[in-house]
Amino acid sequence: MPAKIIDGKFYSSQILDEVRGEVAEIVKTGERPPCLAVVLVGEDPASAIYVNSKKKMCADVGITSRAHILPAQVWEETLLLLIDKLNEDGEVDGILVQSPLPGHIDEDGVFKAIAPGKDVDGFHPYNSGLTAMGSDGGLAPCTPAGCVELLRREGIPMAGANCVVIGRSNIVGRPAASLMIKESATVTVCHSKTKDLAAVTRGADILIAAIGKKNFVTPDMVKDGAVIVDVGINRTEGSKKIYGDVDPACMEKASRMTPVPGGVGPMTIAMLMKNCLSAYKMAREKEKEDE
Ligand code: NDP
Repeated sequence: MPAKIIDGKFYSSQILDEVRGEVAEIVKTGERPPCLAVVLVGEDPASAIYVNSKKKMCADVGITSRAHILPAQVWEETLLLLIDKLNEDGEVDGILVQSPLPGHIDEDGVFKAIAPGKDVDGFHPYNSGLTAMGSDGGLAPCTPAGCVELLRREGIPMAGANCVVIGRSNIVGRPAASLMIKESATVTVCHSKTKDLAAVTRGADILIAAIGKKNFVTPDMVKDGAVIVDVGINRTEGSKKIYGDVDPACMEKASRMTPVPGGVGPMTIAMLMKNCLSAYKMAREKEKEDE
């Protein structure tokens, strides 16, 4: 029987409704709404599209947004000064620097410069550390948090499940593994040096694919009845169509599977809005504690 689709659009709109509702309640009390500052360096068309869609999403849920657009040749020092200013700005709750940055800028250094409490992408080592420790109170990276949220809302049992994550990037694979450990799954992380990958993935009750290679996971790598979360966004030259990391033929073996598009992608931006609201709430709580 073909797998049931896990509808990321449906769950992301649920999350956005929740964020919209909370923001409206905040505004009703006379407080200002949360504010996200988005920094874009250069004119990469794909990045400009991402920034615009984030601005639109903010407006849709009632979050204020500010865009800071810097030329591609900007000095790293100038970018860092802007981040310092945003860190100090009491009216800004979240800071997002759109990647990729031009080659002359140390991207990791820039992400580390963002105040952890405003790091809505969850890439700062402080937040990565909290995610790795399974601690609450930080901001988890949006894409892996979105994967876990999808599984939770779909009612997939995670405790005790064998979860295999393909990919060990700091943005997706590693934090996805940490978040699944927090859910009490038994987690295996695979990467390009993994021996007999198919033998490992065939043991997965939950398979999370974050590789960056079109249709990489094939049905022979999947256990009957597995749940598959496909993080991949792959484009082929000359086509606007996007492909996942999982061959759609795997639908025949899986019990549930996220589609591409319409699976993890919409969850990422919804989790970004959720992180922005969390950053706002954490800052307000800290202000109260400091009073
Ligand atoms: P990276 O390129 O940073 O990481 C890819 C990982 O896949 C690496 O750990 C790499 O292993 C592993 N890998 C590559 N080839 C193989 C192989 N043959 N066998 C096993 N493992 C392999 O990518 P990201 O983590 O940033 O992104 C992964 C995918 O997710 C991409 O398609 C990206 O576009 C997509 N993505 C989607 C998002 C969304 O919103 N839906 C957001 C972010 C990313 P090694 O470490 O050994 O090199």
